[in-house]
Amino acid sequence: MKQIHRQIILKSVGPWLRVLPTLVILLGMVTGSAAAATATASPWDVRKINGDDYVSADNIKQFYHFGSLSRSGSIVTLENAKVMLKLNLGTAECTMNNVKFVFSKAVEEADAKAYVSRTDLAKLIDPVLRPNFIKNAGNFNTVVLDAGHGGKDPGATNAYGNEADYTLKVACLVKAKLLTKGYKVVMTRDADRFLSLQERVNVANAVTENAIFIAIHFNSGATAARGIETFTLSPPGVAHYGRGLIEADKYEHAGNEHDSANMALATSAHGSVLRTLGTNTFDRGIKRARYTVLSGITHPAILLEGGFLSHPYEARLIDNEKYQAALASGIAKAVDKYRVAVTPPPAISATR
Ligand SMILES: [Zn+2]
Repeated sequence: MKQIHRQIILKSVGPWLRVLPTLVILLGMVTGSAAAATATASPWDVRKINGDDYVSADNIKQFYHFGSLSRSGSIVTLENAKVMLKLNLGTAECTMNNVKFVFSKAVEEADAKAYVSRTDLAKLIDPVLRPNFIKNAGNFNTVVLDAGHGGKDPGATNAYGNEADYTLKVACLVKAKLLTKGYKVVMTRDADRFLSLQERVNVANAVTENAIFIAIHFNSGATAARGIETFTLSPPGVAHYGRGLIEADKYEHAGNEHDSANMALATSAHGSVLRTLGTNTFDRGIKRARYTVLSGITHPAILLEGGFLSHPYEARLIDNEKYQAALASGIAKAVDKYRVAVTPPPAISATR
């Protein structure tokens, strides 16, 4: 681990029309025709708020060629034909095409303008809007699936079963689907056995080919808590979701090498699973965490929580094979969508 002094700089925007198709693949749920935006890149106007670098929504509008910027109460909306980005002033929440994301810093207001932290712009908005700018991310053929818990660690339990069994069932279903699509699949466990978190990291890091890592878990909490959520590694300087910043958060982990790919993979998986499970599924959002399986893995990695075993209705759903199959199908589809989204378009040949 080393303390980072890495500057977050966005590469100047390429042709916007090149960006649109991959964004649509990643987020889905898009209506309308392609926007014919032709404006050029704008310089960033950075200001300090609470000691952090922030950029204005007006600046984001210019840079990403949003057609409109409007405000209704605390909601600031940036929109064009393909993308609707909603910022919620005073909170760390945003949605892009109705998929919820949790920022590392609150959206602030200054001089009657909305401001987004530079970290959230570079580490969250940019990889979602421009996944094909992520270097070498599309070049993978292996998927490491990590069924959470197992053996002496059953995970969360309820009257129907336990988390370790459900995660293994879903991981096996995902594996079968990925094999038919031509991916190689590595399972951290394929039976009811215990593995430490570090052992899971070791299995993933032993894969020498380009790979992605998907950990599958189910949640537990207060009886009313429900829905799905997806975690990606916090960038340096960003806390684990729900707790304050600690000294260790300032340092860079192996997984931070893939910050942009992590976010693109999380977006693809979260959006795909939401769509596959249907409109009644509560969206808890894409969040930042410092779980061992995210920080130590040298491949793009996410951890998906597929519902609450502690919720009366979701507990029954999770026990149902149709729900397990739908969840697995959402994850498997997300792998394809991610690969397409992060693959740069072929260079246009100069010859005819
Ligand atoms: Zn778990």
